Amino acid sequence: ARFSSSRTKLFINGQFVDSQTSDWIDIHNPATNEVIGRVPKATQAEMEAAVSACQRTFPAWSELSILNRQQIFLRYQQLIKDNLKEKRQNTIIVGRSADLSLVFQCFAEVVEHACSVTSLMLGETLPSLTKDMDTYTFRLPLGVCAGIAPFNFPAMIPLWMFPMAMVCGNTYLMKPSERVPGATMLLARLLQDAGAPDGTLNIIHGQHEAVTFICDHPAIRAISFVGSNQAGEYIYERGSRNGKRVQSNMGAKNHGVVMPDANKENTLNQLVGAAFGAAGQRCMALSTAVLVGEAKDWLPELVAKAKKLRVNAGDQPGADLGPLISPAAKQRVCSLVESGVKEGASLLLDGRDVKVKGFENGNFVGPTILGNVKANMTCYKEEIFGPVLVVLEADTLDDAIEIVNENPYGNGTAIFTTNGATARKYTHLADVGQVGVNVPIPVPLPMFSFTGSRASFRGDTNFYGKQGIHFYTQLKTVTSQWKEEDATLTSPAVVMPT
Ligand code: NAD
Repeated sequence: ARFSSSRTKLFINGQFVDSQTSDWIDIHNPATNEVIGRVPKATQAEMEAAVSACQRTFPAWSELSILNRQQIFLRYQQLIKDNLKEKRQNTIIVGRSADLSLVFQCFAEVVEHACSVTSLMLGETLPSLTKDMDTYTFRLPLGVCAGIAPFNFPAMIPLWMFPMAMVCGNTYLMKPSERVPGATMLLARLLQDAGAPDGTLNIIHGQHEAVTFICDHPAIRAISFVGSNQAGEYIYERGSRNGKRVQSNMGAKNHGVVMPDANKENTLNQLVGAAFGAAGQRCMALSTAVLVGEAKDWLPELVAKAKKLRVNAGDQPGADLGPLISPAAKQRVCSLVESGVKEGASLLLDGRDVKVKGFENGNFVGPTILGNVKANMTCYKEEIFGPVLVVLEADTLDDAIEIVNENPYGNGTAIFTTNGATARKYTHLADVGQVGVNVPIPVPLPMFSFTGSRASFRGDTNFYGKQGIHFYTQLKTVTSQWKEEDATLTSPAVVMPT
């Protein structure tokens, strides 16, 4: 193998290389807490070498025919689909339990979208602005770009980043999450197999120092970040101050507003799936329910459905939710639940003491539901990022909208209703970037963009879709005049040409 899963390599200039660092981070299987590998904190010299490779390869890569780059990514999307099995093993590390082949199909969709670059990167033209003068624009790559990824979607989120950037002609420095670096290494190998020239994608590993290195390196022109607010705001501010473009997708508190006219069975199933799937470790998890009017009577049924979910290691058949990423994450989730109880919420379902046979040391928390939650409670104000659903009640749709809009986050929300006018009102008035109508996790397909807003996003150009192309390119405007010979100027033109 060109990389080893036990000691993660760096990927520099087309080579999977051992780091010379003495500083390593353990990688744990969250279902057992066994150490399953180690990831290096790359040295300064290694990080420099990775950026140098990006810089060195940029001229040739950006000048390669766009059709050639497109061909590489056409091969790449197929290779990703063909290699589902190997990646499946890698993803088990985060305890995912959904139908993984389906999930990987989704991953490839962003790469498929990148293959539309020949349409997406078109510039604009306006002929005959004045006599013999035409103006047109090119969209050109920026240069070296970088991506910093979170743990919770080890393959999908890196694929939001480097394929879009590279197909536009940028070269790329990727820093995966130090907790799940393996998936990115596989993706790098497949990209190499698809024909990406050595040095166009480079991978470094590490934590804060690697992140600060990226924010400060003068050759890096743009940074894509996905992760927590703490890291994302730091990266946005530091990177921007250094003159870089930055897009930061961050934390969330997504509300599902349940109207009493909704299809009850369907709504409760959707809510439970979206609250507890992936153990709530999704930035689009529907972690907050707002039951409007008589919908509050559905709470016992909601609890009953949640109770039935099976907690197990992500690679075990029939597991509905897997473990949390670390003991610290479990600790944090449990203490937020405890804070809710102390502040007056009712603990309707408590998954904190769940035991999973054969995986007694895992970071498991079972489905947990807090009812009677109020907006001033800590469990409401903070992102929990675990299998905990907090439930609020509202008398009317307007009250529900007020709750949603007073929450600082704006990543996603959903309304469940059978009334079109209610749905329309909600989609227009909810100040949230991604709204689902009877769709609990409204993540847009890649021909659209991922449009979280307010505290869930910093920057002004979103991930993937047309916006992704805009983020990774800059406009150049060319104004040209080709005069007929008899139109030659007879004296200097001292005024601005108009
Ligand atoms: P995280 O912020 O801890 O880590 C993300 C990356 O930032 C990692 O590569 C890590 O090395 C680095 N990092 C962490 N702390 C840092 C710090 N203080 N300074 C500099 N760098 C730092 O996030 P995570 O725990 O891996 O992921 C979970 C978070 O990501 C949740 O808040 C979730 O909502 C968010 N998320 C958001 C989206 C979205 O699209 N909005 C998608 C997925 C996850």
